[in-house]
Amino acid sequence: MEETTLPATDKLTVTVIAPVHNEEPVLHLLYERVSAVLESMGEPWELILVDDGSRDKSAEIINELHARDPRVRGLSFSRNFGFQVAVSAGLDMARGDAVILIDADLQDPPEVIPDMIAKWREGYDVVYGIRATREGETWFKKGTAKAFYRIIDRITGIDIPLDTGDFRLMDRRVVEAIKRMPERNRFLRGMVPWVGYRQTGVQYHRAARVAGSSKFTSVRQMGPFAVNAITSFSYFPLQIATYLGFLIAGISLLAIIAVIILRLMTPGGQLLGQATTLVAVLFLGGVQLISLGIIGEYLGRIYDEVKQRPLYLVQQKWDDET
Ligand code: UDP
Ligand code: MG
Repeated sequence: MEETTLPATDKLTVTVIAPVHNEEPVLHLLYERVSAVLESMGEPWELILVDDGSRDKSAEIINELHARDPRVRGLSFSRNFGFQVAVSAGLDMARGDAVILIDADLQDPPEVIPDMIAKWREGYDVVYGIRATREGETWFKKGTAKAFYRIIDRITGIDIPLDTGDFRLMDRRVVEAIKRMPERNRFLRGMVPWVGYRQTGVQYHRAARVAGSSKFTSVRQMGPFAVNAITSFSYFPLQIATYLGFLIAGISLLAIIAVIILRLMTPGGQLLGQATTLVAVLFLGGVQLISLGIIGEYLGRIYDEVKQRPLYLVQQKWDDET
């Protein structure tokens, strides 16, 4: 490392973490743009690339980048463990006083990092990237994202800033707090606001991917993400069963009274036929199945936690010692 006379604050290190899943075409460019930005700030830095079970040449490229520049560190998983776990592994490895999460596909421009660092120096512990605009994404993705954050906000009471993604800066003490949260079903966008401290945001324009394709497009991929977000931070779905129970019991009580009165007032007359009974039974059956399903969802999560399996398994590590 070069010997220069640096002000005292420059002893602090900046860590940039990018999760990588089949991102072979973008990794060189990612390294170039991130290093250019950090170099221009004159801060000691490191770039951590977590290969989340890529099936392309991503791991080889990380290996190559590490050989060329030891400030590129990282590891590769034994298989695909998912975005949330990849980021968590990066946090475990990070040494910086400020840690920045960024998507490998360069949708989050590294050029925003100096703004984030400036806010951090002002004393903020979390600096969100707020998407002022989003390019190259379908109306479906934008629409569902918008609805999703509004629903989460209402149900969980965790105040997730609107229009933020995972692009953000975190102070060391926030990172330490996250590392103490051992849950297996992780939802970082909720965990970071939960930690608290001083949080703020900087606006940026979300670009289109420079290459490769999005891994989160279908309902099949986004559905579990949404369920995770809600169940990790709220009991509300469990309470729905209770509310519905009270509502239906109340209505039924009124209906019973009505039936008795009608029966007494129509001498010898038959009340309406089987259909009413059938509909009522089917409706209640449906409500009970849904309620059971919700309980099952939480039970499954408790099971996941109780097993205490490791969050991820490492296949290869690119670090100083190796
Ligand atoms: N990613 C990952 N593991 C996965 C899926 C995605 O590490 O199982 C990474 C991916 O390489 C990228 C980031 O997560 O760096 C965001 O993924 P993507 O760009 O596909 O999502 P989008 O921007 O479309 O929401
Ligand atoms: Mg992307």
